[in-house]
Amino acid sequence: MIKKKIYEGKAKVIYKGKDANTLIQYFKDDATAFNNKKKGVIPGKGVVNNFISELLMTRLTDVNIPNHFIKRLNMREQLIHKLEIIPIEVVVRNIATGSLVKRLGIQEGKVLSRPIIEFYLKDDKLNDPIVSEEHIIVFEWATHSELEEIISMSARINDFLTGFFYSQKIRLVDFKLEFGKFWSEDETSIMLADEISPDNCRLWDLQTNKKLDKDRFREDLGDVDIAYKEVAYRLGVLSEKEFKKVLKDDF
Ligand code: C5P
Repeated sequence: MIKKKIYEGKAKVIYKGKDANTLIQYFKDDATAFNNKKKGVIPGKGVVNNFISELLMTRLTDVNIPNHFIKRLNMREQLIHKLEIIPIEVVVRNIATGSLVKRLGIQEGKVLSRPIIEFYLKDDKLNDPIVSEEHIIVFEWATHSELEEIISMSARINDFLTGFFYSQKIRLVDFKLEFGKFWSEDETSIMLADEISPDNCRLWDLQTNKKLDKDRFREDLGDVDIAYKEVAYRLGVLSEKEFKKVLKDDF
């Protein structure tokens, strides 16, 4: 059966699902950074991110955080609920790095006294500018109550994921979330969308601070695919045998 493509993004393709309320999310190996200025391929990334995101979304469902994940279909695809995506990227930060350090001159690696939640407008032409809660409400990207829900969900997701990664000796430094509106009968509710993977999280090894995420691609640190697979291995979605094979193949 030929699937109908609805949208192709930088790292994923969205196809029509079997019924009107579902979509299929396909994970590519393509990687981009700096708003498409840097492009490359991370071999196996799509498969690894599909499995990692499946695990994390399922765990979030277990703790009652509604999200679009329904089930994994195969190595690179998952069935998801169709949402009306809110055009805001929500970034949660636990440790200062990246654009926060560049923009405000904060010391790299500083552990924040409490998590910071930031909002960016999803608009490549404008370079995804940072926006305030006021902008979001006045320009009607989300209502006041939707925004309250997004903030409270983001804080809960951060609490859960921080502990989850910590148990695998990984520091959750910061990450990006996307949300959408889910329509059921006459009601709408907010659901977490997109993916949670080393593409949109900064993950540092607890002991050494070694980067296990897309910063290895952004900063040309090498072994990007191995770092992603190490996260998958630590989270238990890649077996020891498979992970050892990856290491042997590479060295
Ligand atoms: O670059 P910055 O420090 O603002 O990134 C914060 C977090 O959001 C990082 O984990 C990064 O991977 C993620 N991010 C993303 N997509 C973007 C911008 C940032 O996944 N377009």
